[in-house]
Amino acid sequence: MQPLTNRSQAVNRAPLTWWERIYLPAIIGGLSITLKHFFRKKPTINYPEKTRPFSPVFRGLHILNRDEQGRENCTACGLCAVACPAEAITMEAAERLPGEEHLYREEKYAARYEINMLRCIFCGLCEEACPKDAIYLSETFAPSDYQRKQFIYSKNDLLIPHPEKEPEAYKKALGNRAGKNEVK
Ligand code: SF4
Ligand code: SF4
Repeated sequence: MQPLTNRSQAVNRAPLTWWERIYLPAIIGGLSITLKHFFRKKPTINYPEKTRPFSPVFRGLHILNRDEQGRENCTACGLCAVACPAEAITMEAAERLPGEEHLYREEKYAARYEINMLRCIFCGLCEEACPKDAIYLSETFAPSDYQRKQFIYSKNDLLIPHPEKEPEAYKKALGNRAGKNEVK
């Protein structure tokens, strides 16, 4: 019969020799492969004590951004929600009241902003769509959990720390974006 590919090999049906029947060479060969792996560099790491260096284009947990005065950038325009292919973003807009200028940069802000991390595919389209530099995907993971509701991240979970009140935490949250946080 004509073989389908040239990769097929004829099966050797010759009876086993005495040396082969005691299986020692096969066992020694297998153990030597195991031993070789003892001296190789481990491909695993002790997460979470250690983390791998991320690619510069890694997209992790979302951050809602503030400007350098600590005001929320988001103007609740909804472009990120429209751009999201997974329909993971929900928001409610509210109007800024007199006296709230120190809290919100624009006249409209997101009174409620939620991301369902179980739906999110971390594509980054929300970041691309945002005209206000108000959302970006950081270098941290969304932590694992046993309950689905814990994966609905509210505005409080997502907001970056205040740059004046918590400068260290703010800098850490910015990560590699430090210095790129331009106000448009
Ligand atoms: S990263 Fe993609 S899937 Fe996740 S919220 Fe943003 S647009 Fe939606
Ligand atoms: S995060 Fe950006 S795109 Fe989304 S509602 Fe706020 S300002 Fe608009």
